[in-house]
Amino acid sequence: MTQSAGHDFVVIGGGMAGASALAEMSRHGRALLVEAESQTGYHSTGRSAAILAQTYGNGVVQALTRASEPFLTAPPKGFSDAPLLTPRTLIRIARPDQEPELRGMFDGLEDTGLLRWLDAEEIARRVPIIRPGYASGGFLNADAQDMDVHAMLQGYLRTARVNGAEVLTGAPVTALDRTPGGWRVEAGGRRLDAGCIINAAGAWADRVAALAGLWKKQRPPMWNSRINSSRRTMASSVSLIKAAGIKSWPTCSSRVVWRSMCSTGRVSGIGSGFFAVVGGVTNF
Ligand SMILES: Cc1cc2nc3c(=O)[nH]c(=O)nc-3n(C[C@H](O)[C@H](O)[C@H](O)COP(=O)(O)OP(=O)(O)OC[C@H]3O[C@@H](n4cnc5c(N)ncnc54)[C@H](O)[C@@H]3O)c2cc1C
Repeated sequence: MTQSAGHDFVVIGGGMAGASALAEMSRHGRALLVEAESQTGYHSTGRSAAILAQTYGNGVVQALTRASEPFLTAPPKGFSDAPLLTPRTLIRIARPDQEPELRGMFDGLEDTGLLRWLDAEEIARRVPIIRPGYASGGFLNADAQDMDVHAMLQGYLRTARVNGAEVLTGAPVTALDRTPGGWRVEAGGRRLDAGCIINAAGAWADRVAALAGLWKKQRPPMWNSRINSSRRTMASSVSLIKAAGIKSWPTCSSRVVWRSMCSTGRVSGIGSGFFAVVGGVTNF
């Protein structure tokens, strides 16, 4: 076990949360990011459908999305060579049995003037591969945007490195212990001292909290109950990518098995859950 010099901040997890936290904390002290996998962005971050949607997630996520938009629209000079956001509308669709739930969600959203309820006919016109009769309604999120997730992740990591931060990959955190000055972190055969640790371990955050003795025993950690932290799948369809005009289609998402709603029947290898199509298909 190698003993490393002390850090003010050790960020655990090299996804978008960890990389952005590292960039911010590197302005305030000596910062290090430790990632279990051999590269950053390997898990959720690397599988995002890459849509910035003001209607995504719960109220907290929606507020964070809105708060992120100005930064992503005009990032600091040198953050990225390419634009981080490009226009892309989003349509959330529902089958007749799902429509009341989606309608309820739509009615609960803040009226920004950029959301509109769509009938089946308009959905079919906008996303022609949806099987006729499948979707009975949905709503349009006209100010959604495509995000360049890779450019964002690399922008944060570059910013952090410029500020002197380090990134250690292939270094799963296996022990966290309190010390008088903060924390002792064991990761990838190294022993690190940290004034402060930042848990950005995504679906494994509960496990990391448990290592630090911070997980309350009365509730089972997420990884024992709801989340399977193995690599989640993603499907893509070459046949769809060739479809005429697909570049101008909206991203389309629903809580369904994609295969059952697609009129081409040529998509395979996808489970149930949300899906999105933008010249590709993903479930999440
Ligand atoms: C298929 C899919 C599509 C999505 N589409 C969208 C979308 O269109 N728009 C949107 O806004 N969001 C989307 N999301 C959600 C978004 O991708 C996630 O919210 C975001 O990437 C989470 O980032 P994270 O850094 O918290 O987690 P992750 O990217 O999962 O990063 C966590 C990291 O922690 C590491 N780690 C875990 N345990 C340890 C340990 N003990 N030691 C060291 N490292 C550890 C993991 O290896 C991992 O790299 C999607 C998610 C998925 C899965």
